[in-house]
Amino acid sequence: MTSSMSLPRLDEPMMPTTKPTVKTYAIPTRGDRPTVPSIFEKSQPGLRGVDLPALDVPTHEIPEAILGETPDLPELGQLQVARHYSHLCERNFSVDANFYPLGSCTMKYNPRINEFAAAQSGLINLHPMQDEADVQGLLQILFETRRFFEVISGLPEVSLQPAAGAHGEFAALKVIRAYFTDHGQPGRHIVIATDNAHGTNPASCMMCGAAVVKVKTAGGYTDLDDLRRLIDEHGSENIAALMITNPNTAGLFDTCISEVAQLVHDAGAMMYLDGANMNAILGKVRPADFGTDIMHYNTHKTFSTPHGCGGPGSGPIAACSKLAPYLPVPQVVKQERDGHTVYSLDWDRPKSIGKVRSFFGQVGVLVRCWTYIAACGPDGLRNVAETAVLSANYLAARLRNEFEMPFFHPEDGHFAAHEFVTVPKSLLARGVTLLDIAKRLIDYDIHPPTMHWPVHDCLMVEPTETESKETLDRFADAMLAIAEQIKRDAESMAQAPEHAVVRRLDEVAAARKPVLAYERSG
Ligand SMILES: *Cc1c(COP(=O)(O)O)cnc(C)c1O
Repeated sequence: MTSSMSLPRLDEPMMPTTKPTVKTYAIPTRGDRPTVPSIFEKSQPGLRGVDLPALDVPTHEIPEAILGETPDLPELGQLQVARHYSHLCERNFSVDANFYPLGSCTMKYNPRINEFAAAQSGLINLHPMQDEADVQGLLQILFETRRFFEVISGLPEVSLQPAAGAHGEFAALKVIRAYFTDHGQPGRHIVIATDNAHGTNPASCMMCGAAVVKVKTAGGYTDLDDLRRLIDEHGSENIAALMITNPNTAGLFDTCISEVAQLVHDAGAMMYLDGANMNAILGKVRPADFGTDIMHYNTHKTFSTPHGCGGPGSGPIAACSKLAPYLPVPQVVKQERDGHTVYSLDWDRPKSIGKVRSFFGQVGVLVRCWTYIAACGPDGLRNVAETAVLSANYLAARLRNEFEMPFFHPEDGHFAAHEFVTVPKSLLARGVTLLDIAKRLIDYDIHPPTMHWPVHDCLMVEPTETESKETLDRFADAMLAIAEQIKRDAESMAQAPEHAVVRRLDEVAAARKPVLAYERSG
């Protein structure tokens, strides 16, 4: 073969590696994206995905009685099947594909090393009923994960059992109740939650049979006077706990958190921390140091285990020494036996609230979580928090002239934590809705932020530490272009999204009356 063939040299890229810079932010067009026909519609009778070897045994007819109706299966080649599912998959929105600044959800990148660890054959082939002696490696990982969470929270004992944040809230409230019942104070049935609490907080209280009362927030911070008033009004002897999120859903670190804890403790109650926002304070502040008695983590948010479509996640809970005896069973423990380190499951905890999850908890997720924490190390975790906070403040600063921010006042020392809230009043006054803005972002291939929460008509933006400055700038540019479009031609906003597979869906009907069966034509 001669060198006259014009193959590209390997050091010469065949395609330009840099995309042309987009100067103006006209709405990108992506051409038509027709709906994908179902695999049944693609079926071509006679096509096969595999060739089976010729039979080397005698054939037998299967009796009619056990044969039943022959299922009508699609017939396609392997490549067609692969492409069909790949194309469907491309229609999903994911962190892997695009920016996903969904406030409070911490949609950060899930490093592939987590998947590598979780896919080790020594882990995936384990059976939950195996002898402890055979699963020492897994138990060691779980024990170390437990220790990581104890160190990060500053609290002495962690249970890895709860399966999600909300489940952690529920288990922790059970723990608090068990503690008070055990200490002759079964009358403590009221839980105070802030008026900007995540919906799961009051829901968990209801599930536990606790009454919820709301404490006001002022300027995004817990209103201490209102907290004092509530404790007086309901009687300190009736208060079981305060549930608080810090940094909170207004995107603020509650600067009076120590006073809040003092008031709660003076009432003889427990301070519960909703740890969904740990991303902002990892390695910077230990919740125990600001008065937390018990808390949950969301591994699928802060610790980068995947969370799509509601699971699986994991919601370990950390408790102070008073509450620790009531944590769920079993507890993974480490002992020295005959000069050997042995890991085991301890079921002998007479005060425990009992079992909240099958077997060891969400093992696959916890292995990913261990990997993430081990890979980051203490400095890496601090860096996560610092970068997440920096990114949120950078974006807030870029957007605040067009998008009003009720809680972001850096000149007075009110910085954003890892997320910020905007209430774009002057844009909305031009006759557009918040939904118009959210839907237009889809045209820029950006997932809309959280809406209408923690205050009405707001967008809550959480960029996370894993996004580059280029992506943050692209988001800011898109938001500013949307603001400009609203000022120029507010009516056109009702058309958004114009370049998505589907336009405006009836979201309530989609949630309440989902059509889960496919009607085949013909
Ligand atoms: C996500 C979240 C929860 C609930 O956690 P899940 O793991 O989704 O059950 C609770 N509180 C806050 C503030 C959250 O953001």
